[in-house]
Amino acid sequence: CGIVGYIGQQDVKDILLNGLEKLEYRGYDSAGIAVVNEAGVHIFKDKGRIAHLRTVVDETVLSTVGIGHTRWATHGAPNQRNSHPHQSSTGRFTIVHNGVIENELELRQEFLPNYNFISDTDTEVIAALIEHFVLEKEDVELAIRHVMSLLHGSYALGVIDANNPEVLYAAKNKSPMLIGLGEGFNMIGSDAMAMLQCTNQFVEIEDEEFIKLTREGVTIYNLLGVTVKRDPFTAELDA
Ligand code: GLU
Repeated sequence: CGIVGYIGQQDVKDILLNGLEKLEYRGYDSAGIAVVNEAGVHIFKDKGRIAHLRTVVDETVLSTVGIGHTRWATHGAPNQRNSHPHQSSTGRFTIVHNGVIENELELRQEFLPNYNFISDTDTEVIAALIEHFVLEKEDVELAIRHVMSLLHGSYALGVIDANNPEVLYAAKNKSPMLIGLGEGFNMIGSDAMAMLQCTNQFVEIEDEEFIKLTREGVTIYNLLGVTVKRDPFTAELDA
């Protein structure tokens, strides 16, 4: 299981699919991608291998921002409905998540008693909570950090906001995730292998950090919203 995300200049579909293929060794039962363009967010996902996902993706949809996921089911059977990406109920937030949220039942009861969940996953609770706090007038970055502060468990998260597709958000706690840096693009991935097709410049992310990626730059924040500075490193690996 793993995640990959990209914001840049090139069409994103193959970058995500190739990246997910590099994560296949981590094991998975389902896979999916979400890409965003002027027409909105497009999700392609299903149970099965990346080779199968390639046949599900509409080649005519062009986009330069997207997130991808290989799933190893922990909450809910491996099927199309439980595959990632998952969306909040209005469709505004689309997320991929690698990890396990241990207090998802408590969070459902406390904040989302009347929410209409589509999947059986713990992940959908994260998407629903982000939207919940945004509907309570928190700005998106604060809402994501607020949700992070409530989550018990592990997550590597990629988040797309349909209202602001010039930004890709990410967050990490106890699940692996790295930032990949490039000229005119930036990415996230569960490991360097998923990103070597595009870059060999990486930045480490620590637990409970929140990341904002644009085409031009990457900013890392702690849970309080304070910027964290960290130097990149060059990976000497063969793609
Ligand atoms: N807990 C999530 C699920 O069951 C994510 C699993 C994963 O890391 O692939 O869908």
